[in-house]
Amino acid sequence: MHHNLVDAGRPLFLCRSASCKAPQSVAATASAGGMSQPRRPVDFAAATPYLVHDTFRAMSCITKQIAHLDLDCFFVSVERIKDPSLRGKPVAVGGAPGGRGVVASASYEARAFGVRSAMASSRALRLCPQLILVRSRHHEYGEISERLATRMEEIAPVVERASIDEFYLDFTGCESLYQNNLAGFMHSMQKMVADEFSLPCSIALATTKTLAKIAVGTVKPNGVCVIPPGNEESFLAPLPIGVIPGVGAKTEALLTRRGFRTIADLQAQSEEHLCALLGASGGWLHAVAHGRGSDTVSVEHTRKSISREETFAKDLRAIPELEGELRTLVEDVCATVREKGWRARTIQLKLRYADFTTITRARTIDPTDDDPVIFDTVQSLFRAAYDREQAVRLLGVHLSNFDDAAQMELPLNPQRQHREELLKAVDRIRAKFGDDVIHVGGA
Ligand SMILES: [Mg+2]
Repeated sequence: MHHNLVDAGRPLFLCRSASCKAPQSVAATASAGGMSQPRRPVDFAAATPYLVHDTFRAMSCITKQIAHLDLDCFFVSVERIKDPSLRGKPVAVGGAPGGRGVVASASYEARAFGVRSAMASSRALRLCPQLILVRSRHHEYGEISERLATRMEEIAPVVERASIDEFYLDFTGCESLYQNNLAGFMHSMQKMVADEFSLPCSIALATTKTLAKIAVGTVKPNGVCVIPPGNEESFLAPLPIGVIPGVGAKTEALLTRRGFRTIADLQAQSEEHLCALLGASGGWLHAVAHGRGSDTVSVEHTRKSISREETFAKDLRAIPELEGELRTLVEDVCATVREKGWRARTIQLKLRYADFTTITRARTIDPTDDDPVIFDTVQSLFRAAYDREQAVRLLGVHLSNFDDAAQMELPLNPQRQHREELLKAVDRIRAKFGDDVIHVGGA
């Protein structure tokens, strides 16, 4: 019996280079299609008893093991693959400084000058005159992000793409598949992203998504951070309150005035006290300070959506002009939907006025990939929403709820949802490695 997923320090799970020797116990066969690289030689058959055991253990909802992978200055990193002369220099990807261009991603060399995402390109250039500004190629970044998500689904049981450059991976209940060394596996995963995608990333492993997200911020760029269960509070204690997701400048300033500086200061207060001070968000702060927070990694909800937005060079007011823009956005999203062979049920319009007031309106219809049907829906949402009192700064069209993902719309309780996700993970593994490798339940 071959229990080891790691051979001579090399994680077989990640191995796909030519130098990698295929072991005798390969259960996998290559999937059809153009992918000619060898499958990962994972011995899932040997791992089966552990996976089944772990599945039951996980269903009783014990400590979670959630990794957060965050690509470091993703768009800049992609541009650096194309043009290596950009390496080591202050670079920003974003719009031209003449119009309303904003920075979408800044290299760490640029951040040293104070350049940040969402800053006007003109301001970024004032802060850092030698900044190299590269035009954004969003379509390409999206494709790379998709490919990375697909690759991660091969190496982790449950993967959520939280944004174009952020992923959550839930390893709960599957630790033995990773040699009971998830910490070591985080380094292997980071190396895989570097080797196969030429992209730098940072990874944190913790018991909640919230904590993993906070932790990754402490080791960027190119870092790995592992918080063993039970160490949540001591890890958080010295960090400034501003690292907690949802704590904006206003909340931080209020807390600073009251003498709160670090998370340790929050830990010292009762939930009642924090709620009295901050209302409902006091409860959230109390939970996060004690190492709790959001811990459901959801496969479908962000991965399966397609959207396009357009910020106009100057605000638009005329309805024919705005509807023309909507038509272009619809054509764009529909092309992507058809490419993927999906049909969308939920169509959402996003409308941002000149004063940044933003509204979204959605409608669910019969599944479709048809431009005229989607355009008619978007147009009627737009006509109902646009009050014409102000010019429009941005329009967006967002498609989701695709027909093959419809069953995910059921409201599930967390435990049930976790089980469904485990079962789906098992389905994916079976699809890749054959029906015999994993059996769940029944026994
Ligand atoms: Mg990032």
